[in-house]
Amino acid sequence: MDKIKEIAKKYNLFLLEDAAQALNSFYKNKPLGTIGDIGAISFHETKNIMSGEGGALFVNREDLIERSEIIREKGTNRSLFIQGLVDKYSWVDIGSSYLPSDITAAYLLSSLEMIDIVTQKRLDLWNFYKKSLKEIASQDLFTIPHVPQECRHNGHIFYLMFPNVEKRNNFLSFMRNFGIGVSFHYIALHSSLAGKKYGRYCGDMAETNKASDCLIRLPLYYDLTSDSQEFIISKIYEYSKLYK
Ligand SMILES: *Cc1c(COP(=O)(O)O)cnc(C)c1O
Repeated sequence: MDKIKEIAKKYNLFLLEDAAQALNSFYKNKPLGTIGDIGAISFHETKNIMSGEGGALFVNREDLIERSEIIREKGTNRSLFIQGLVDKYSWVDIGSSYLPSDITAAYLLSSLEMIDIVTQKRLDLWNFYKKSLKEIASQDLFTIPHVPQECRHNGHIFYLMFPNVEKRNNFLSFMRNFGIGVSFHYIALHSSLAGKKYGRYCGDMAETNKASDCLIRLPLYYDLTSDSQEFIISKIYEYSKLYK
């Protein structure tokens, strides 16, 4: 992030952080989502803290706050009206209906109040995977995540990285035979239909393609029991003996 910030500053670029899955994660003690000009957090059902759908925008620049509120309020200056700063409100810009309902917000609030408990539980599961799989991890079989010293994560994903797509797919079907919901993601954006239509890239995208072809996510969710986790780990050990 330091390097990216440096580049953004040098070339006068706007820095938007996709911190969708990063709530309660830190880089050099700074919360992710608060490092760039703006940052986006997701509360989609697949995230650590969720409200089904929805998200939050962190605005790190005073001059962007008013416009952000207008866009969120269907393109109107209603929030200035509510604050008593204008005597009527109307359409002043583009926008849409981005406000969550009260029921959604109430659900989200009670989840946010549990964030420390949720994060700790996920970190416990994450650390147990790491400790248990350290012994068998290798370049030939699969590698496990490494967290740099200056980073503090939120236990969102525990992934295995396989040497190639065949080995990854082998593992996927091996685990699914036991009803274990491992999953891969994602299809690399630059190779998707819309990516080709709207995006551009340079180089061969080797790292992106490798992550897309070779990554597997292990089950990790708040109420994963230690029995289930030990079962998953025992099957990974079985796999390692069969395919080493
Ligand atoms: C989940 C996720 C998104 C999408 O979030 P939505 O709330 O569904 O829009 C975008 N980027 C990353 C990195 C994510 O993990």
